Amino acid sequence: VGKGTQAALLVDHFGARQLSSGDIFRKEICEGTELGCLAKTYMDRGELVPNEVTIGMMAKRLETDDIREHGFILDGFPRSVEQAVALDDALEKLGIQLAKVVSIEVPDEVVVSRLSGRLSCSQCGEIYQVQSKPPKAEGVCDKCSGVLVTRADDAPETIRARLKVFADTTLPVIGYYADKGVLLRVDGSGDPTEIFKVISGKLQ
Ligand code: AMP
Repeated sequence: VGKGTQAALLVDHFGARQLSSGDIFRKEICEGTELGCLAKTYMDRGELVPNEVTIGMMAKRLETDDIREHGFILDGFPRSVEQAVALDDALEKLGIQLAKVVSIEVPDEVVVSRLSGRLSCSQCGEIYQVQSKPPKAEGVCDKCSGVLVTRADDAPETIRARLKVFADTTLPVIGYYADKGVLLRVDGSGDPTEIFKVISGKLQ
């Protein structure tokens, strides 16, 4: 839905840190670590990486001084009610209160069309979209001249698997945070800059 793009804009705006579970997994895969190898088997199928691995990894990141000092935006975590409960525990131990949870919502067909045209820089991670945000030169990153690649899990059959995982496992997280009164629902089908204005305006 463009959550990574919005998280990056919010991080710039608020001077906070971005904690993206997907980016952390992808970095581990690039570095060929044990965690990366394990995560890849799930990510390639569009499935969630098991909670035992994901929760511990994110809880550890939250303990760093940098995060405490600057604040943080979680991107892609929690993705299940179990993860949300574990996040509550981790934050309580750290004495941190979650300010808001943003649910960016777009119809499935828009998700499929956006992901099918998504490219990301293999060097700096900048994200492009063939229709809405094409690079100036084909296949080359505007920012660092790195090579642009399609994410392995943006293949059509994997996108369908990810949407099913979202409906079955992640959707209940919305109710969990609505009950806590911290949920902000945003229509994510428009222009990224306009969506950012809506989200940042409500987070002030
Ligand atoms: P993303 O970059 O957020 O779209 O995540 C890409 C993939 O990484 C997902 O489809 C999952 O396989 C894995 N992943 C990211 N975040 C989580 C999470 N919180 N729990 C389990 N798996 C995750």
